[in-house]
Amino acid sequence: MKWKNQLTGMKPYQPGHSTDEVKKMFGLDTIVKLASNENPLGFSIKVSEFLENQSINHAIYPDGYASGLRQALAKSLGVDQNQLLFGNGSDEIIMMISRALLQPGVNTIMATPTFPQYRHNAVIDGAEVREVQLKNGAHDLQEMAQQIDENTAVVWLCSPNNPTGLLIDQHELEEFIQKVPKEVLVVLDEAYFEYITDPSYKNSITLLKDHDNVIVLRTFSKAYGLAGFRVGYAVAQKELIARLDPVREPFNNTVTSQGAALVALNDSSFIEACRIQNESGKKQFEDYANTHNLHMYPTQGNFVLLEVKADADLVFDGLMKKGFIIRSGNALGTPGYIRVTIGTTQQNEEFLQKLTDVLKDAEVFA
Ligand SMILES: *Cc1c(COP(=O)(O)O)cnc(C)c1O
Repeated sequence: MKWKNQLTGMKPYQPGHSTDEVKKMFGLDTIVKLASNENPLGFSIKVSEFLENQSINHAIYPDGYASGLRQALAKSLGVDQNQLLFGNGSDEIIMMISRALLQPGVNTIMATPTFPQYRHNAVIDGAEVREVQLKNGAHDLQEMAQQIDENTAVVWLCSPNNPTGLLIDQHELEEFIQKVPKEVLVVLDEAYFEYITDPSYKNSITLLKDHDNVIVLRTFSKAYGLAGFRVGYAVAQKELIARLDPVREPFNNTVTSQGAALVALNDSSFIEACRIQNESGKKQFEDYANTHNLHMYPTQGNFVLLEVKADADLVFDGLMKKGFIIRSGNALGTPGYIRVTIGTTQQNEEFLQKLTDVLKDAEVFA
């Protein structure tokens, strides 16, 4: 068959062990997954009520324009309805952008390490990938700007960056966007927007008015706790959205997903409570890192990248045997570190106890 050349040797996304598998393997009663930055508090109780009471006819197609959700979201963001594009998760929007703009002969610029889907999609679409090493965990925007040439189609920015958690400095971001040529699309992936507490952060939606080449990505998967429903969205000037929209599958969000996201959007007090809980969980990790002299990046997300001073794969294995699934930095391009989703107060406490045990076994701690 006539496969695209670039598919040669490509591997599918490797899902981690399921919690049931791990339970069986190690004879554990409970297993806590702190690996995918899902919300440890789940979702709003209003969403539970909606799910119990919904009477949706699943025999008919969903509203392909997601009108109800679109109207509410536009209002809450203070933008026009035609400035929004919905995806089956923001993963799908990354794919749409890639499909619309990337092809052999063009290049695309991103940080490394960062969210792997930018690279993955760019490779499938045959574009040259230019990766710029992070500097102390942060985007090196000067070098990224240097890398732009007449063949650059898309620059990907992830803020807070997954896996380091660092926010892009507001001043540097604005300077960078001024510098980027108008014909280059700047994607600003803000999957963890709702968790940001840094007072210097300015809502990126305000950047869109003056820049027709910027698109902001957000999602209902992280703070809203709806990862299983697959709803992400993009915000940009209406002309940009109109160019991207033909790439979208016509019915890419289910009826139930649209309904759940709409209900979740209306419960801002839940998000506020999650942000507060996340801040206090962050403090637990910070205190631990300070006490044990381990480096931790200052995170603005609901996850931490923590130094372990040992082979991160060994630490991963040790923690799994004790009932916690996290991510080894070896798989993320940050060897010597683990990425852990901030859990509930009790989960964090138990996790940090187990981590101490594992690091003692590894002779990192005396
Ligand atoms: C989780 C994550 C996404 C994907 O989110 P979905 O909306 O569930 O597809 C996108 N970008 C970053 C940086 C993420 O961490």
